[in-house]
Amino acid sequence: LDFKSSLKPFRIDHGEKFRLKNHDPGSTRGYESGEDAKETLAKGVSALSDMQQMLYAQCHWALLLIFQAMDAAGKDGAIRHVMSGVNPQGCQVYSFKAPSAEELNHDFLWRTNKCIPERGRIGIFNRSYYEETLVVRVHPEFLKHQSMPPELITKNIWTERYEDINAMERHLSRNGVIVRKFFLNISKGEQKRRFLRRLEDPDRNWKFSASDAKERAHWDDYMKAYEDTIRHTATPHAPWYVVPADNKWFTRLVVAAAIIDTLQDLNLHYPKVDDAKRTELDLARRLLVKNGSRKTKSAG
Ligand code: ATP
Ligand code: MG
Repeated sequence: LDFKSSLKPFRIDHGEKFRLKNHDPGSTRGYESGEDAKETLAKGVSALSDMQQMLYAQCHWALLLIFQAMDAAGKDGAIRHVMSGVNPQGCQVYSFKAPSAEELNHDFLWRTNKCIPERGRIGIFNRSYYEETLVVRVHPEFLKHQSMPPELITKNIWTERYEDINAMERHLSRNGVIVRKFFLNISKGEQKRRFLRRLEDPDRNWKFSASDAKERAHWDDYMKAYEDTIRHTATPHAPWYVVPADNKWFTRLVVAAAIIDTLQDLNLHYPKVDDAKRTELDLARRLLVKNGSRKTKSAG
């Protein structure tokens, strides 16, 4: 499965030139429908499962996947579908909501740092420390709840947070934690359609929250915050993928492809058996065979 060239339009390695307006939330890149993409996605999900098994066996690398988006962009569904073939024991999902009092009493990277995946695992952040340059930027009054020393809250605060995030992600990548970030890019119109569906369909009512609809008033500010965040934090070692999100099936395809591409670059393989281990395996095999035959005899 070679996705590298098809992922190019979505992958941002160098943020400086990034402009959100060049990214169409409705794009499906030549795929006509979900039906069209089904087979590719199924192949992808199974490839992912194989590679995750090797990642786990090798136990050197960890993969951190970060999902950020406006409400109803399909984070949960994308995570569920793309990871559906993966062994749950090799995968950890964390959702970050509005911070608790305890979390607010710590630096802004504290709560997520506790959840960085172990070696051999895939960690998924459903929202993340990026909320700090998104929702907190759109609502700067949230900064006041963070009990920071007031003199540290200056006009440079966002630049400082970008720097600190970049430094932290570089630290992770230097330690074998691969960071990949996904912005599911939904349009304002499609979000409205999905909110209305949540209101009309009883099975979807639980997903609707009035405050989500209120946040639409800040749509342009959010888009500016996303653009600025991506411009400052897209790096070759921790790139952003700006994923068209008006068609769920296409979102899932791009996310799966990006994860597969990332794992393929690691050239994973099952740990090689050395001579000492080989001797140990041979011994174990002989013991098993011997014990097995004795048991059959006494039973018979
Ligand atoms: P989601 O909205 O991710 O699908 P949910 O509806 O189950 O999940 P919510 O209770 O809406 O969860 O929690 C997510 C909310 O928490 C979002 O509005 C988000 O902006 C907010 N949030 C997350 N991190 C922070 C933060 N660091 N500071 C302030 N608000 C935050
Ligand atoms: Mg919500």
